[in-house]
Amino acid sequence: MSVIACHFCDRILYACGRSPLVILFALVAALVGCPWDGVDPRPVFAVSIAPHGYLLERIGGDKIRVAVLVPTGKEPESYQPRPGDMTALSRAKALFCTGMPFEAALIPKLKSVAPDLKCLDLREGLALRALELHSHAEGTGATELVHSASCAHDGLDPHIWFAPGMLKRQADAVLSVLIEYAPENADDFRRNHEELVAELESLHAELAEKLAPFRGRTVFVFHPSYGYFCDEFGLRQNAIEFEGKSPKPQQLAQLIAETKAETQKTGRLPVIFVQPEFNRASADAIAEATGGKTVKHSCLDRDLLRSIRRFGDEFVKSQE
Ligand SMILES: [Zn+2]
Repeated sequence: MSVIACHFCDRILYACGRSPLVILFALVAALVGCPWDGVDPRPVFAVSIAPHGYLLERIGGDKIRVAVLVPTGKEPESYQPRPGDMTALSRAKALFCTGMPFEAALIPKLKSVAPDLKCLDLREGLALRALELHSHAEGTGATELVHSASCAHDGLDPHIWFAPGMLKRQADAVLSVLIEYAPENADDFRRNHEELVAELESLHAELAEKLAPFRGRTVFVFHPSYGYFCDEFGLRQNAIEFEGKSPKPQQLAQLIAETKAETQKTGRLPVIFVQPEFNRASADAIAEATGGKTVKHSCLDRDLLRSIRRFGDEFVKSQE
């Protein structure tokens, strides 16, 4: 049996047997949409990334369908819409954005395909941070802030989903939109939202307690996706990625020096978090040069609360 996931509603399609025709049917369905798509009356809401899909599913429950644009395991920075995405968007009530550069290119194209689609920026009303990346002033060893060209077209950090405190405001925004489009289910949405907010508050409290002894310490990561998490728990993010690219040899040497300095301060060998969506070669090189290790973690996992908790727990483990 072949198993193929429909990429815009995440429904699993099963192609039983080995008949090439059956497999071809499942492949076509996966590309252009589910065969039963037209008969499902529930409203469709689209999101750019899987963690926001989780947010919508938690609040919308089984009263809505969620289409995720960036497939699991792919970096949003290189996303290109597929034909099935445009079909999903043409049926969607609203698209929830997070400030990724691809959204700026996609939204104008949607005018002809989905003229009534409401595009909502989930960053609205949030206190956004500048996206810091390394810029090592030659010879001085100093680090200054520069803006990423690959991840945020406006220099502001788009990784707003990876912090429990930030997520509460986003959950509020999602709740309002769902009630606007499906008022008949408002009570369900409010109940689900309340449960989610309670879980977010308890996750924040749990991590605040666990991370309190390590305030001021540095979290080494490849891609700078953890800035809001670090801000929320008093940590400092140090990203290896240099203006959206892997560091050059001189920059790598500087990063190794910074990693060693942190080890001297904390007495702990460095742990570098690598995201499976990106090339990890430079993280491996730093780990090798400093006696540290790498830990795989994706901030794009759909099961967002588990992913946030795991990241916090892994960091605590690396510091104990
Ligand atoms: Zn990013």
